[in-house]
Amino acid sequence: MSLLPALVYSEQYNATFGDHIFPTDKYRRLFTKIAATKTLNKFQLLEPEPATAEELQLVHLPDYVRDFMNFEYTEQMMTSELPLNREIRDFFLLAAGGTILAAEAALNRGGAINLNGGFHHAFPDHAEGFCYLHDPAIAIKKIQQEKRIKRVAVIDCDLHQGNGTAYIFRRNANVFTYSIHQENIYPVKQHGNLDIGLADDTGDEDYLKHLRREVPAIYDHFQPQLICYVAGADPFINDQLGTLRLTKNGLKLRDEIVINEAVGRGIPIFVVLAGGYADDTEDVVDIHYQTAETLGAAF
Ligand SMILES: [Zn+2]
Repeated sequence: MSLLPALVYSEQYNATFGDHIFPTDKYRRLFTKIAATKTLNKFQLLEPEPATAEELQLVHLPDYVRDFMNFEYTEQMMTSELPLNREIRDFFLLAAGGTILAAEAALNRGGAINLNGGFHHAFPDHAEGFCYLHDPAIAIKKIQQEKRIKRVAVIDCDLHQGNGTAYIFRRNANVFTYSIHQENIYPVKQHGNLDIGLADDTGDEDYLKHLRREVPAIYDHFQPQLICYVAGADPFINDQLGTLRLTKNGLKLRDEIVINEAVGRGIPIFVVLAGGYADDTEDVVDIHYQTAETLGAAF
């Protein structure tokens, strides 16, 4: 029997961001939902360790890492639109440790999901858009440093462009960055390898048409040896931050394309959650749950 894909989670995956649109209780609620169903049996549960300062420096500048570790709320931190204290620092360190663990587990097991992470707006020298640490980039650089593999593709289906990802890997020919997002909203766009900026009110049909065409083509032409799937829940129809207006079923089909096309080709894939700001957090939990379910069912 082959190894089960990994599910990375910690009871410490919670922090209080104060009165903020980011629903930090989604992690615990998602794990509770997974644990209440047979979906958990499809995974090997793994518990992460916090990322180290040395690991952060694979992506972030030494001054930034020092200030972050000391939770010094400098100008480079304020652009996060979040507060910063010991609890929030520890949350992001554990999220990054979880994504590193998921990437490594994916290489060993074929698939993994971190029930956290996907903070794709962080830059080497400053925070942005609720993101202090670019956990996917840290994990990818760590894997590349270990020289187990070379080519990694990032498939970013969050509502917002993965601007930090595009910037960090702009001169790295071994990382292909794909982002499909709403064009007319945050952030200021960076050039990735393939950026699909969609119109407001795009809906399921046009969105999925892009994915069906572009994702298999990236897998075939770039031939990644590892895929990072940034599975944001915010393209959803009731999201407060955007209007791509995908249904839950559309988002499930999205997950199936990204995950099944990878697993079918035998390419290891790790998943991070990223955003999700529906009026009702239960919708965010449902959408992330579908992603976990799709990954579990693919093995
Ligand atoms: Zn987002």
